[in-house]
Amino acid sequence: MNYDYLIVGSGLFGSTFAYEAAKHGKRVKVIDKRDHLGGNIYTEEVEQIQIHKYGAHIFHTNNKDIWDYVNQFAEFNRYTNSPIANYKDEIYNLPFNMNTFNKLWGVKTPDEAQAKIEEQRKAANIEKPRNLEEQAISLVGTDIYQKLIKGYTEKQWGKKATELPSFIIKRLPVRFTYDNNYFNDRYQGIPIGGYTQIIEKMLASDLITVELNCDFFERKEDYLRMYPKIIYTGMIDQFFDYQYGELEYRSLQFETSILDQANYQGNAVINYTDAETPYTRIIEHKHFEFGTQKKTVITREYPKAWTRGDEAYYPTNDDKNNKTYQKYKKLADSQSQVLFGGRLGMYKYYDMHQVIASALSFAEKEFN
Ligand code: FAD
Ligand code: UDP
Repeated sequence: MNYDYLIVGSGLFGSTFAYEAAKHGKRVKVIDKRDHLGGNIYTEEVEQIQIHKYGAHIFHTNNKDIWDYVNQFAEFNRYTNSPIANYKDEIYNLPFNMNTFNKLWGVKTPDEAQAKIEEQRKAANIEKPRNLEEQAISLVGTDIYQKLIKGYTEKQWGKKATELPSFIIKRLPVRFTYDNNYFNDRYQGIPIGGYTQIIEKMLASDLITVELNCDFFERKEDYLRMYPKIIYTGMIDQFFDYQYGELEYRSLQFETSILDQANYQGNAVINYTDAETPYTRIIEHKHFEFGTQKKTVITREYPKAWTRGDEAYYPTNDDKNNKTYQKYKKLADSQSQVLFGGRLGMYKYYDMHQVIASALSFAEKEFN
């Protein structure tokens, strides 16, 4: 069969692009080095519970077009992410909101909370935040930084908070209302029956062939010869043989247990924000779908340094790495056979809705 496209990676980016290509009558081959579809959004059923194999995935977006698009492939429930922080057995609500401020300081009104934060911000004497630590203190004050941010952040990224970019902490809302919703977006939920069905439906066309357990780098030269166009969603530095050096990534290890009890922690996500606990969070999968099964399944998420051969879960988008990425991007832009997409191909801390939007904009450029 003569294919129009080779897509490297069956994650959300590759699969969205494949779906759009087939819609335009293109023949597509998708390869993935893993033994399953879906990349990091892959879910599988254990004890009648959908397990988020690569960490908690909550779909959220402000964009109605993206919400309608993803709802073609699954029905979503009304789950609202409201993680809990456990700091040395003290329990706080996230994101940072009036419940958090009340528990920490006993304040009851937004004015009192704001005054407390202002007092701590003044004492820290930060004019213009230059890194994550300064950004965090100027947003929520020193107490919250010390209990809920510093320990979590430094173990998650394996770096001092003073060496990390501010944008990472700005992902989290700071709210002066009693609202524990982790996201500000208009639309949010979990696909009933898991994420894998979305990818399966995206790749269901007769024009699409999928090959799993297939690593692009085992036959890179052949693929480049055989396919007129390639969509590559793996690591961009690996594609170019690390010629400008390695980009930094963060890896993870997941430890999953099935427990003979109905309810282990009472919430889908609990973050362990102290420095000593080796994992960052425990997820209890059934709570994403309001499950009432007799057993439960939990996963501990351990952050880990990335070295070659490990799965790269997060790009480390600091200035140094972003500069190196720009060099790779220049190489990528100097040719037209291979397009680089997704979290690893574009080296961007993208969430799912952003990955879909980006894949749709690639498709729009290719097909219209
Ligand atoms: P991936 O899912 O990484 O897919 C890339 C695919 O390419 C993989 O299947 C990989 O095996 C394959 N591949 C790579 N190299 C090769 C090769 N050489 N040969 C063959 N195949 C290859 N987003 C949200 O919106 N909400 C959340 O709550 C959320 N939580 C997250 C939690 C964690 C722990 C992580 C890591 C991410 C989270 N995300 C979340 C982000 C979300 O996972 C990504 O936005 C999305 O999955 C990225 O899709 P992708 O296709 O770019 O990459
Ligand atoms: N963060 C934190 N404490 C928390 C949760 C998050 O300090 O309890 C910080 C941490 O630096 C993290 C960032 O906020 O990397 C973004 O959190 P998010 O939940 O968006 O991370 P992700 O789900 O992408 O790992």
